[in-house]
Amino acid sequence: MKICRFNDNRLGVVEGDNVRDVTEALASLPAASYPFPSHDVLIENLMQIRQAAEQLAPRAPTFALADVKLLSPIGNPGKIVAAPVNYKKHLAEVLGDPEIHNDNQISHIQRAGLFLKATSSVVGASDGVALRKLDRRNDHEVELAVVIGKAANNVSREDALDYVAGYTIGLDITIRGPEERSFRKSPDTYTVLGPWLVTSDEIAKPGELDFSISVNGEVRQKSNTRELILGVPELIEFASSFYTLQPGDVIITGTPEGVGSIKPGDTMFAEVENIGSMQVAVRDAQEG
Ligand code: MN
Repeated sequence: MKICRFNDNRLGVVEGDNVRDVTEALASLPAASYPFPSHDVLIENLMQIRQAAEQLAPRAPTFALADVKLLSPIGNPGKIVAAPVNYKKHLAEVLGDPEIHNDNQISHIQRAGLFLKATSSVVGASDGVALRKLDRRNDHEVELAVVIGKAANNVSREDALDYVAGYTIGLDITIRGPEERSFRKSPDTYTVLGPWLVTSDEIAKPGELDFSISVNGEVRQKSNTRELILGVPELIEFASSFYTLQPGDVIITGTPEGVGSIKPGDTMFAEVENIGSMQVAVRDAQEG
């Protein structure tokens, strides 16, 4: 199932070029009171949501996807876990370009570990990206994003895919420079998730997906997740050996070679096999 969030926090099921409004399914979520859970309650209860959505869908109001505003498919991710230099050719590209590495020590991912992006950086495809620090290089990074479905602590790679709720496309927008990654990659709108969540039953092999991003029609990055250094199961094993992954936590798995700069006025088009595609506009943050 392809599940989206759209317009004014509506819940939708995507069918072809249309979305069915199944917001009523949210009534099946347990009531919450302060302090609210720090993980995503919809993803935690995805089974019930799916059942309710399936019952509602045939009679649900239908909109053209082109006419709705797509929000991040995960409303309340507790963590955005990110993988640095997780494609071999991207590692070579980083080491070879001072504008990308900025004299930062670049280590293999097994040595560098993972990093976190602020959850306040997350937006959906229709929100677009608002660039800051326009005197510096701002880059696109397209990545397969993994959404965790249930608490995962010290999970082995063999069991790891059982903990996945689904997949979406992630854009890890990045200001190049000398600061820590989490600082340069966490401005508002610098994590785009979308266009929707594809549940894990529709993607049996996350390690065999073609994906790409183009900017203003020019292809910039094009690869396949089989080129990952640490694949999805290994990333879940690695992350969950340091902290518990919670429902709705997102792992953005790393970007391949071809990172390049974006500027206000640009339009990005990102696509991942078996997930879909999304168009994301770039603007100047000072213009709102
Ligand atoms: Mn990245």
